[in-house]
Amino acid sequence: MKAKAGVNTEHLLDVIHLNRSLNRKISKTDFSDTIFPVKNKNQLNYLKNRLGDDLAYRIRAEIKAAQNKYGDDVESISKTVLTAICSIDSCYAGDHEYCKKSSLVCSSKRSYKFPYLPFICKGRVKFSNSDMKKIVDVVSHRTKIKTLKSSRFNTTSQKVECLFSAMKQCNPKHSCTFTKNAVHRDHSSIHISNCGPGVSLAKKLEATSVPLSISSRSPSIKALHQMQTRRNLDRLRNKCSSSRRRRQNSRRHQLYSVHKDLKGLSTYSNCNIDHTYIKTEQVARDVIQM
Ligand SMILES: [Zn+2]
Repeated sequence: MKAKAGVNTEHLLDVIHLNRSLNRKISKTDFSDTIFPVKNKNQLNYLKNRLGDDLAYRIRAEIKAAQNKYGDDVESISKTVLTAICSIDSCYAGDHEYCKKSSLVCSSKRSYKFPYLPFICKGRVKFSNSDMKKIVDVVSHRTKIKTLKSSRFNTTSQKVECLFSAMKQCNPKHSCTFTKNAVHRDHSSIHISNCGPGVSLAKKLEATSVPLSISSRSPSIKALHQMQTRRNLDRLRNKCSSSRRRRQNSRRHQLYSVHKDLKGLSTYSNCNIDHTYIKTEQVARDVIQM
């Protein structure tokens, strides 16, 4: 097909698969036992698992922020991500001074919130030097220039499937019989999925020096306008804060967060950390007894 079309193709990587492999590698890394002040092994394993999820999330966020800042400049993306990850130990210990200089996610305006860690562990993780080496090894594997180049468009299998369905619509089997038209039809389907159906058709007509006049009362222009406005409204609805909040506050998410916090509290019940809430409960009981 490559020889027939006469176009050089490039192999791209799926970002979701890359992130999954990153998650797997980080959750498998054997962190030192002094990372959390917990003696029970089951509790320690649980907290290490949560830490793995949180670290993977942080690395993904750093890469995304660097991609937004530098675009196609792959070398500067890998440099900034690696420098940000090298100063991650102080961030997890609660000191955000180094982050302000190096990190794009944890800045002076908005510090990182550690979304996957239990409430009491936030800002109390102590990485050793060997832990940091393991983390940097995993991150350097993800921030290789070759990997970043092949994932620069953030392509996923879902997006590719979506494009295939759009191409199928433009190349129906029963009507498209000429192979020489297939490439042009593919280009047109990609144009439609990038710009939207209305704008795409208007642009194509402009390019062929037959522009659509907005003042004309033809039903085709009305239909195009309707298609475009519907698509724009759908996109806006999905992006707006209210729909995002609705998704976040779904019943399942709430239950999961409650379970997470409760489990975090129970893991710290026997360790040496001072619990202010336990003290206040005891004080209250003493006052009642008096
Ligand atoms: Zn920080």
